[in-house]
Formats: sequence, C-alpha cells, structure tokens
Amino acid sequence: MSVIRKESLACPSCQAVLDIEVLESINADRRPDLRQAIVEGRLQVENCSACKAQFRVAPSLNYIDAGRGQWISAQPLDQLGAWPQVEQTALRSFSKAYGAEAPAPARAIGAELVARVSFGWAGLREKIVAGEAGLDDRLLEFLKIAIIQAGASLSAGRELRLEAVEGSSLVMIWTDSRTEKQLETLAVPRSLYDDIAADRGAWAGVESLMGEGPFVDLQKIFVGGGAPGAQPEQAAA
Ligand SMILES: [Zn+2]
Repeated sequence: MSVIRKESLACPSCQAVLDIEVLESINADRRPDLRQAIVEGRLQVENCSACKAQFRVAPSLNYIDAGRGQWISAQPLDQLGAWPQVEQTALRSFSKAYGAEAPAPARAIGAELVARVSFGWAGLREKIVAGEAGLDDRLLEFLKIAIIQAGASLSAGRELRLEAVEGSSLVMIWTDSRTEKQLETLAVPRSLYDDIAADRGAWAGVESLMGEGPFVDLQKIFVGGGAPGAQPEQAAA
C-alpha cells in the first residue's frame, strides 16, 4: 500500500508553516497514477496557501513496483553526500520488508525485486524510465561516463539524466540538480549503449568503483564517500 503522512513544512519562499501530505511509501502496482506523476514531474509539487509560490517537497520514501521488479529507497538530494549510510539504511529496510528478515510470502516477492537507492526526484524518475525501457541502470551509468569522456563537462550541481527512450535514441538531459531546470538535451544513439553492453568487461574498473551497493549512479564516484552533499532540493516558483 501507499502511505501518506501529514507534515508541517515551511514554505521556502515566505516561511509560512503549511500542513502538507507527504508520501512515505508508494506501491506502484496499486497506484500507477503515483508512478505516472513521478514520470511527469508533478508528484509533491505544492502551492503555498499564503504566498502562492510553487515548490516541490523532496522525496523521502520507499517505492515498490513488484510488476517491474523495482524497489527504490528515494531520498532527498541533500542526503547525497551521506550515500554510504543511506545505502545501509535502505538495505536494512529491504531486508525487513522483502529480504532475509521478512516472512516467506514477502521474501518470494523480494526475490524478484532489485533494490536501489536514489537521490532527488530526477534520480527516482530516471530509475523508473530506465526500468520501463529495459535498460540496465549500471550500463546506463557507464554510458554517461563515456559521454563525459567524449568531452561533456561534469560540474557540481549538474546531473545527466535519461529523460526518455525515443526509437533508437536515448534522450538525455543535463539538469540543474537543485532547481531541476533542464540545461541541455542530448540525443544519444542507443547503439552506444548496446556497444557498452556487448563489451561490459571493458568497464570492470568502473564497475568495481561503483561497488555492489544499491546506489547505482556515477555521482557516487564523483561525490566520494561521506563528502558534503548538494544544496537542499527545492523547485523555483
Ligand atoms: Zn509561501
């Protein structure tokens, strides 16, 4: 089931304290509308009742889509620097809900799930889009590294995200992590992804840098372990 909790949050524009319904967990099998709202970038977009400013409440939830084999601990972008701890917490919750510590029926569901950690809405959305397109998310990160090596510049606060798969193109967008503003769109031939998939062994070094944990994102390599995170996530009005 999907769980909602009420939270008192300050409007980022006028600081008015608002009572907001925040999702604690999402079951996409039962609530495909919530999954769709993530893909369309409108989940937890709020309007301040005092100043009318629009802002987005960062994700802090567990997402499950048993039909597509996805379990994701989606956390706020400002937790990115603490990813090693977030990974541990996520693995513990997965273990209790669907893993070794869960009852047999839940374990049976868990056996078909891949556990992941994501930060920010863009990170969660990308996992959903990649899963839908049948892309291996590790290979997708290798592809991003190949794009960066080919000359695109990586800088703090910018992330390269898979936006959509259109025919033989992977539409990838450089996004401002904090504001979610889209900075630059790339149409990447899917053949580049297929080449990487066919020569996975060549990426063994990167694969081991990324480790076995559930946070599968090249940010892991660039942020390092436990470095200070990015700014809190919040959409501009
Ligand atoms: Zn306000």
